[in-house]
Amino acid sequence: MKVRLFEIFTSLEGEGILYGTKTLFVRLAGCPFTCFYCDTKESLPMDSGNEYDITDACELIEKNLKDKTYKVNFTGGDPLVQTDAVIEMAKFVHSKKIPTYLESSCYDSKKFEKVLPHIDFVKVELKTKDSDFVDQKHYSTLIENALDCLKKSISAKKPTYVKIVVSAKTDLETFTDLTQKIFKITNPRDLNGFIIQPTYGIAEPTLQQLLNFYDVVYPYFSDVRVVPQLHKLIGAP
Ligand code: SF4
Repeated sequence: MKVRLFEIFTSLEGEGILYGTKTLFVRLAGCPFTCFYCDTKESLPMDSGNEYDITDACELIEKNLKDKTYKVNFTGGDPLVQTDAVIEMAKFVHSKKIPTYLESSCYDSKKFEKVLPHIDFVKVELKTKDSDFVDQKHYSTLIENALDCLKKSISAKKPTYVKIVVSAKTDLETFTDLTQKIFKITNPRDLNGFIIQPTYGIAEPTLQQLLNFYDVVYPYFSDVRVVPQLHKLIGAP
């Protein structure tokens, strides 16, 4: 089996419920989407990065595991594009007794279901319409997939959190609609976090917009947080 990796590096987790924790990031190449705020555009082409035999990729992970590596984050691009390779690498990481974390846009719930048993922490990202994630025709199908991933992750009792990136272009109505859809299928007690993440350096939302988004989520999930990406603030990769 082959895998295309864009890069591998140790840094601080810049997002979500594991914010600020030391992590080895395995960034896989390839993502079919087009979010306007994407900060890893170089890793989107399927031929970006380098191709490895899966055993060589696991060796590379092993070389990068330091004494104090607390978890491995499979990110992208979108790691679900290379689901089978993620499974093999996650099994390898587990053999070293290190937990795994998946960061995906959750665009395909069947692929997600396959990888889920090998993942310990899950981020389920829901994209707003204005993200330009995908054309309007396919948007609702992708959101259905992300919601299905959320259901599956919670049913599997994985620590799961929701992330929504918001920009100056995000309107309150679509954000509210997305929030309602999430809590129609989710018991707030089963959720480990709800992160509203402002875009950075591009179409940044105003404080008032962020407060409005916060107010939408709070009645459902009072521990909602607005959190910017840590690595951007400290200039880390
Ligand atoms: S889904 Fe993620 S990796 Fe893909 S374009 Fe959007 S932000 Fe970038």
